[in-house]
Amino acid sequence: MYPGSFQYSAPSSLAEARGLLATLGPDAKVLAGGHSLIPMMKLRLAEPAHLIDLGRIPELSYVREAGGGLAIGAMTTYHQLETSPLVRDRYPALADAASQVADIQVRNKGTIGGSLAHADPGADLPSVMLALEATLTSTGPGGQRTSDADGFFQGPFTTGLEPDEILSEIGLPALPANTGGAYKKFANKASHFAIVGVTAIVTLAGNTCRRVRIGVTGAGANASRARAAEAALEGREATDDNVDRAAAQAGEGIDFLGDIHASEEFRAHLVQVFARRALQEAVARAR
Ligand SMILES: Cc1cc2nc3c(=O)[nH]c(=O)nc-3n(C[C@H](O)[C@H](O)[C@H](O)COP(=O)(O)OP(=O)(O)OC[C@H]3O[C@@H](n4cnc5c(N)ncnc54)[C@H](O)[C@@H]3O)c2cc1C
Repeated sequence: MYPGSFQYSAPSSLAEARGLLATLGPDAKVLAGGHSLIPMMKLRLAEPAHLIDLGRIPELSYVREAGGGLAIGAMTTYHQLETSPLVRDRYPALADAASQVADIQVRNKGTIGGSLAHADPGADLPSVMLALEATLTSTGPGGQRTSDADGFFQGPFTTGLEPDEILSEIGLPALPANTGGAYKKFANKASHFAIVGVTAIVTLAGNTCRRVRIGVTGAGANASRARAAEAALEGREATDDNVDRAAAQAGEGIDFLGDIHASEEFRAHLVQVFARRALQEAVARAR
C-alpha cells in the first residue's frame, strides 16, 4: 500500500517547524516516529499534503532533571524512556509502560510526543501521564502554553492540542518520598496495544496510603483518571482488602468500549484486575 503524494520538509529547529506548520496550514502534519501516521497514510485514513519531519530537531529529544522532577522532550523514543536511569529510578511506572509498547522496532522509532498527540484509545502512555499528573507544553502561533494531562485526552484520537500546535515537552512533577508506581496491562497479543492498561502511583505514610493516583487506558474512548478508586484507598491502610475494594471501583465512570478484542463486560472486569495488580506493585515499590 502506498500513501498519496505529499511534500516533505525536515526543519532543524522547533522554531522552523512551528513556522512551517503555521504557513502550510491544516493540510500539513508533523511527523514524529511515523508509527501511527505512516500506516494511516498508507490506509488513506490520513492524506496530508505536507509532512514536517521533527526527526532532525535534536532540541526535542532529551530526558533531564527539572524542578525536582523531569522534563522530557516530545521526540524522546520509548526505547530512550525505558533505558533512561532517571526514568527507571524515579518514575518506574513510565519505564514499565514504555518497555511494554509493541516491539523493539516500534520502541526505537515511536515517541512520547507522538503517542500523546495521537491519543489512540489503546495507547499505553496516556494513563501514565494522568497518574503522574504530567504537564504538556506545546508551541504554536500564539506562543508556548502548558496544560495538565488531566483534560488533554478528550476522545479517540482527540486531544487539547490545536492543529497548528506542536507538543514540545512533557513535565513530570516531583513525587513525594515513599512513592511507588507501576503500570500493568492486558495486551492485544498481536499489536501489544492495551486492551486495558492501568497505572497506579501510591505514596505511603507508614502503612497508610496518603496519596493515590490511578490512570486507565484502553477501557474507554480515552484514557481517564479512576477517581473513585483513588478516593477509596486514600487515607486507608495498604492492606490487600483495601486495595481490592479500591480496585473494584476503578471502572467507575468509564463508558466501556466493546469490540472484536474484548466485550464491554470483559473490559470492565479487566480494569478491576489490572488496577489491583498495579496498586499492589505500586505499594510494594513504595515500601
Ligand atoms: C505494530 C505496531 C504496534 C504498536 N503497539 C503499540 C502499543 O503496544 N502501545 C502503544 O502505546 N502504541 C503502540 N503503537 C503505536 C506507536 O506507539 C506509535 O509510535 C505512536 O502511537 C505514535 O508515535 P509516533 O512517534 O510514531 O508518531 P507519528 O506516527 O509520527 O504521529 C502520530 C500523530 O501525532 C502527531 N504528532 C506526532 N508528534 C507530535 C508532536 N510533537 N506535536 C504534535 N503532534 C504530533 C502526528 O502529526 C500524527 O497525527 C504501535 C504501532 C505499531 C505500528
